[in-house]
Amino acid sequence: MRFSELAGYYEKLENVSSRLAMIDIMAEMLSDAENDEIRDIVYMTQGVLGAPFEGLEMGIAEKLAEAAIAIATGFEKERIYAEFKRIGDLGSTAEEFAGKTKLRRMGKEKPEVKGVFETMRKIAATSGEGSQELKIRLFAQLIASSDPLEARYIVRFAMGTLRLGLGDATILEALSKMHSGDRKLKSRLEEAYNICSDLGKVAFVLKSEGMNGIENFSVSLFSPVRPALAERLPTAEQILEKMGGRCAVESKYDGMRAQVHMDKKKKRVEIFSRNLERVTEMFPEIVDAALSEIRAESAIFEGEAIAYDEISNEFHAFQETIQRKRKHGIKEKSESLPLRLFVFDLLYMNGEDYLGRRYEERADALDLIVKEGKENTIKTADRIIAKTPGDLERYFEKAIADGLEGIVAKELDSKYIAGARKFSWIKLKRSYKSELSDTVDLAIVGYFLGRGSRAEFGFGGLLGAVYNEKRDMFETITKIGTGFTEEQMKLFSSMLGKIRTKGKPARVDSLVEPDFWVDPEYVVTVKADEITRSPMHTCGRERNEKGEEIGYALRFPRIVSEGIREDKSAEDATTTKEIMSMFKMQKKTRIGEE
Ligand code: ATP
Repeated sequence: MRFSELAGYYEKLENVSSRLAMIDIMAEMLSDAENDEIRDIVYMTQGVLGAPFEGLEMGIAEKLAEAAIAIATGFEKERIYAEFKRIGDLGSTAEEFAGKTKLRRMGKEKPEVKGVFETMRKIAATSGEGSQELKIRLFAQLIASSDPLEARYIVRFAMGTLRLGLGDATILEALSKMHSGDRKLKSRLEEAYNICSDLGKVAFVLKSEGMNGIENFSVSLFSPVRPALAERLPTAEQILEKMGGRCAVESKYDGMRAQVHMDKKKKRVEIFSRNLERVTEMFPEIVDAALSEIRAESAIFEGEAIAYDEISNEFHAFQETIQRKRKHGIKEKSESLPLRLFVFDLLYMNGEDYLGRRYEERADALDLIVKEGKENTIKTADRIIAKTPGDLERYFEKAIADGLEGIVAKELDSKYIAGARKFSWIKLKRSYKSELSDTVDLAIVGYFLGRGSRAEFGFGGLLGAVYNEKRDMFETITKIGTGFTEEQMKLFSSMLGKIRTKGKPARVDSLVEPDFWVDPEYVVTVKADEITRSPMHTCGRERNEKGEEIGYALRFPRIVSEGIREDKSAEDATTTKEIMSMFKMQKKTRIGEE
């Protein structure tokens, strides 16, 4: 496909707001793609250079891009900069100058998608001495061989501001439509996606092998599996009943989820976070232990990494564990505050996919490969089999007394359900027994300016949203105006200032108008007193018996001390469906108390 055709599709996508129209356009675009280019087209549409967990970045800062546009069009850098400041979008700036370029367009042939993508990857791979100059040169060549519309999208892609408004769920529906003419294959495609976390790969397999290839998808080393998630229930009785009278119960450690991929022969270990970022460098002691303490040639296992003091027998707070996110002092920290990994699942071992095996079988295999020993870094999560609510309740109380967050009950017969929140795992936390049943994680979609003493920070509060999986949209649920420290206000103001958008982002549904909109990117954990029904917010909005449109809102929301949840991306925010079931749970608990 010519890049100009792709740019034409992007322009069409930008001009529609209905999701169904977007799916139609994208399906047509994907149908037009050849087998060997569909992967790149999907990545490009997602705004990435490869599977997101590969973390490839072009490394082009604004200044560098301005210089490249200047070289490519023959105008002075200062003019480019002034125009960019005026219109606020470097892509449109590039388009404008490419339209009145003083130079002749480079190359006779119109560029193909593949060529453009290859150059972008080359730019990303350029590093070391003299790399800035080389990056500018390659980028300038790319712009010089583009027409104005192509330049718009090449520059936006490089700046990370493509913002076509297509989430993973929408892309999956478009793939379904491409293959079968309707959206019905979405859930089967999603299963494959949950196993490899790579939409480009799913698209390629579908296009080249059809649904046969999709049905035969299996786990592979170094491609992270999207994590299984837990549902909530408020009492031991309800959990046991849901599990069929018998289940495993494990301690719930409040650290950082880590998915470890290990290949002994290649001496290679990679660790992925809950939102599938590669975080290997953060955990040197776990990398070593994966090679020396696991009795298998290769494996993928999941656990919770947490700072643990062997001497006092105490778990450290989540904040201390997460400090590892900072790039500096990891080695010192790994010595002064070593982490333990409490492993709770096995996804793959010695060439075999374990996802389809029963929980008990996976747990037994884990016991065999994880060496016992007080000094070891990797341990299995503590667990029991509960046959009565009393067993579960006692184990829960003990976990709380040991300083843990609660328990996770697991269905003995269930397979590992990647990427979904199902009742085969049910969590019970101490907080369920008081006020709102749990904290919620909200995607920030906008923010407000401060008044009075807060004016100086340029920040007065957040507009928080939950994720509606069905609609692939972010729906607002609350404004958060209290509980911020000065430091947090400064941080939010600078962090959010960088991702402001001109209007409401395409995937945000809101009746509230904040001072500034931002792309859903950051997630914060929020505590509230209760969930109420409200006409102000779009979360779960529906018509009630009186004919009024009414949604859900949080009462007295305040941000919890950790602030940003770095291990979650916007789609990992609490979902509308969860809010609705928490609302029901909240009602039941209250009735129970009366
Ligand atoms: P939370 O804020 O409750 O951790 P979450 O959205 O991060 O929520 P959930 O699926 O709701 O994730 O809860 C499961 C999380 O608990 C896992 O992601 C994992 O990080 C953690 N965890 C700790 N111990 C266990 C365990 N034994 N089994 C499964 N998950 C565990």
